[in-house]
Amino acid sequence: MKTYYQFLTTSILIGLVFRAHSGPVAPSETDDHEFAKNYLKKLYNMEEDNTPSFGRKVNEMSLKLGEMQEFFGLKVTGTLDAETMEMMKKPRCGVPDVAALKARALTYKWTTNSLTYRIENYTPDMSVAEVDHSIQRALQVWARVTPLKFKRIYSGIADIMISFVVGDHRDGSPFDGPNGFLAHAFFPGVGIGGDAHFDDDETFSFRSTRGYNLFLVAAHEFGHSLGLEHSNVPGALMYPTYSYTNPDTFVLPRDDVKRIQALYGSNRDKPVNPDKPEPTPPVNPDACDPNLALDAVTTLRGEKLFFKNRFFWRIHPQLTETDQYLIKFFWPELPDNIDAAFENPSTDLVYIIKGQKVWALSGYDVVQRLSLSSFGLPDTVKKIDAAVYDVDTEKALFFLGKSYYSYDVNGKVMDRGFPKPVEQSFPGMTTKVTAAFQENGNTYLFSGPDVFQYNSGRLVNVLKSNSFLRC
Ligand SMILES: [Zn+2]
Ligand SMILES: [Zn+2]
Repeated sequence: MKTYYQFLTTSILIGLVFRAHSGPVAPSETDDHEFAKNYLKKLYNMEEDNTPSFGRKVNEMSLKLGEMQEFFGLKVTGTLDAETMEMMKKPRCGVPDVAALKARALTYKWTTNSLTYRIENYTPDMSVAEVDHSIQRALQVWARVTPLKFKRIYSGIADIMISFVVGDHRDGSPFDGPNGFLAHAFFPGVGIGGDAHFDDDETFSFRSTRGYNLFLVAAHEFGHSLGLEHSNVPGALMYPTYSYTNPDTFVLPRDDVKRIQALYGSNRDKPVNPDKPEPTPPVNPDACDPNLALDAVTTLRGEKLFFKNRFFWRIHPQLTETDQYLIKFFWPELPDNIDAAFENPSTDLVYIIKGQKVWALSGYDVVQRLSLSSFGLPDTVKKIDAAVYDVDTEKALFFLGKSYYSYDVNGKVMDRGFPKPVEQSFPGMTTKVTAAFQENGNTYLFSGPDVFQYNSGRLVNVLKSNSFLRC
C-alpha cells in the first residue's frame, strides 16, 4: 500500500517553480479533467453541467475551480492548472469544503452536552486497544475545551457511530481505495448525523508516521460530528488535507478552539491537575507582528522561504501574495522549529538544519540526510543559530552566538582561522544572528525582529523582519 510520503512526492510549491527542472509523468489531460470534475461535484457542490456554455459568461466548472482555489489560497485562475491539480490529489477528508456548505445556511450542533459513541468495528492495521485509545483521545481533544462529555456504549445506537468501511458503504459517499479520501463524518443530527466513517483501504497507524495516524484523522472527523466545517487556516485541525503532527504533543490549534467554543462555550470544569495547566492553543505566526523573530530564512530557486515554528511563508518575486504553509505540508519528514537553512544554487540543494541533523532538499524530495559535522564543524557544536551561502566566495557561513564559521563548499573543508567574531566581518552586528539569507549581492542578517543589510561588507540598512513579508 502506498504511503503518505509517496503520495506527496509532488506538490504545489514545486508545481509553480520547478516544472522546468523535473516533474512527474502527467496523467492524460482527460483523466485530470474527470478527476477534477468529480472532486468539485463532491466537495464544491458542482452540478452536472450539460447546458452548452454558449451565451454564458462563465461556466460552472471554472466558477467552482475559482472557489476551490480561493479556499486553499491558490492563485484564482478558474482553470485547471498544475498547482490546483496537485492540491486536489492530496489525501484529505471527504466532507465538502466551506464554499459548498454556504447554501445550507444552518448551524448544526447537538442540543445536549452529554454524547454517546460506539465503535462498531475495527481496522486490522492496529490492535483493538490502539484503536480504542486513538478514538478516546480524539474525542478528548474536543472535550478538553468545551463542556461536552463523551460516554462509550457497546450496543444500541450512539450519537456518534464509528466504523471502518471500504468503497460504497451505502451512504451516498463511497470511499475510493487507498489515499484520496481518508474518512468522513456527518454533522450533528438524528440517524446518520454525528457518525464517522474511516476508509479501511487506508493504512491507519497508532504512533508511527507510517500510513495515516488514526488519532489525527479521527480528531478531525469528530470536529464535523460536533458541527464544524472545514477551516482554510493552515495548520488548523479542521483543514481539509492530512498533515502528520506528533500525536503525543498535539494541542488543538487556536482556530479550532475558537470555532468549537462558538458552538458550545468553554470548559468550565476545574483542571484535573491544577499543577499542570492546560497547554496554550498554538496560534499561527502573524506576518504583521513587529516583534516577529524568524527561525530561519533561505532562498529556493528564486523564491524566499521564511520559517517560523510549524510554518513558513513563501515569497515568489512574480506574485504579490504571501502565503503561509505548514512545513509538513511540503516535506512531511522535516521537523518544526528549525534552526537554520541555506541554499547552494550551484548544486540546486537547500539544506535544513536542526540540532545536529541536516536534510538536503531537491525541491520536494529529501535527497540526503547529513549531520552538522559533515560540514566540518567541530563535534562540540551541537547546534547553530543561522546559516547563509555566499555566492561570491562559494562559502557556507554558520553562525553560532557571536561567532561564525566559514566552510569551503567546493574543497569540502572548514576554512582556517575560524570561528571568528561576527562583528569582525559584519560591522555593527553585535547581537546573535538568528537567521540569514543572501539576495542580489546583499547579505541579510536577522537578529530577532531586526535585520541588518550588508553590501560589500558595509552595513547599508536596518530593517524589520516582517518588512519582507509584504505585511
Ligand atoms: Zn473534514
Ligand atoms: Zn460513509
